[in-house]
Amino acid sequence: MKIEAIKGMSDVLPPESENWQTVEQLAREVFRTYDFQEIRTPIVEPTELFVRSVGETTDVVQKEMYTFKDRKGLSLTLRPEGTASVVRAYIQASLSSKDPIAKLYYFGPMYRYEQPQKGRKREFYQIGVELLGAETPLADAEVLMLLEQLFLKVGVTDTNLEINSLGCKNCRPDYIKAIQKFLKGKLNKFCDDCQKRSQKNPLRILDCKKEGCRKLTEDIPLVSDFWCVECHQHFREVRGLLLAGHVKFKENPRIVRGLDYYCRTTFEVLSDRLGAQNAVAAGGRYDGLVKDLGGPDVPGVGFAIGMERLMMLVSTNPEPRTPNPKPLIYFALLGSEAQQKAMSVIQELRAKGQSVGCAYGGSLKSQMRRADKLNASHVVILGENEVVKGIAIVKEMETGNQKEVLLGRLVEELS
Ligand SMILES: [Zn+2]
Ligand SMILES: [Zn+2]
Repeated sequence: MKIEAIKGMSDVLPPESENWQTVEQLAREVFRTYDFQEIRTPIVEPTELFVRSVGETTDVVQKEMYTFKDRKGLSLTLRPEGTASVVRAYIQASLSSKDPIAKLYYFGPMYRYEQPQKGRKREFYQIGVELLGAETPLADAEVLMLLEQLFLKVGVTDTNLEINSLGCKNCRPDYIKAIQKFLKGKLNKFCDDCQKRSQKNPLRILDCKKEGCRKLTEDIPLVSDFWCVECHQHFREVRGLLLAGHVKFKENPRIVRGLDYYCRTTFEVLSDRLGAQNAVAAGGRYDGLVKDLGGPDVPGVGFAIGMERLMMLVSTNPEPRTPNPKPLIYFALLGSEAQQKAMSVIQELRAKGQSVGCAYGGSLKSQMRRADKLNASHVVILGENEVVKGIAIVKEMETGNQKEVLLGRLVEELS
């Protein structure tokens, strides 16, 4: 029986994996310039963590989580997103008592049991950041500037940033009441999901992807009409800082996001090149979350980038992103004695940081063909004759020039 990867989960094969590395490396460089540090959390967490943070009524928790019992009957879940885990770790390690500000980033796979389609997988990778401990609009703006910088750095320049504010715990209840009032009398025209949402989380009705529901909400009240004075002020300052930082954005009062913990600033980065799943990054502020999960009353703001979607934008980008790989030295080795003689030289070259490949058998002709295919800059030929003479033949592939080099001088010659 042939064993294949689980539906919606895929392998990243070379050379595509090289492109992933390049993007991850560039992202790390951007994070460093913004003074963010990496955090690594487990892929599996207690189910309760996501029920309490992401929200019991959200699609993620109700339909999309990979949840299972371990051997002791404990309910575990493969993380469907990164923020909850980071906040859990932040509380567990008392990071707030060590430093009032935490600037963290993460890379890694997330899991959601959704219908797979272009740009949507059941195992998908995210790059995310969380800035904890700052309530100021400057934190929102800085996170958005970082996001823009990251896209520029990997060569993606045609995305659109849309921002909104979801209000706070003081003004959002009025907005929710207004939505419930709006829905009265026409709820039966909405889809089943929306009817359920109307009870526990009516904001999500703005987020419904179904055409019928979208039409019905064309004149739904907008959150901007319900912001309190503080929320108005916060959003105005975020906008002002973005303008000052030359970050292009559009206001979209319909952004609500699929997770319960967001408040105030929320945003999405969209691309026309992605089809139906057009958001490549999204995030926002989540001021109550740390407290809700049993930690101190610490505000937070962050985002996550969908790695597969980002790679679709990067790889369809006209400019090649992979830097020229380091020149490779290839060892054509004939016979076991030649292999033995070459070992210490190969080891030493690699220790110096040089990329080295070697033949695992075959004729000299086939080994030279392989060196060609690998685009080697030099080939070191070591056969029985050379071993007896204590030399190797070094061939420069571009010119075809070759010369004999004493084995003892090979490392020096090739470095
Ligand atoms: Zn407010
Ligand atoms: Zn609906």
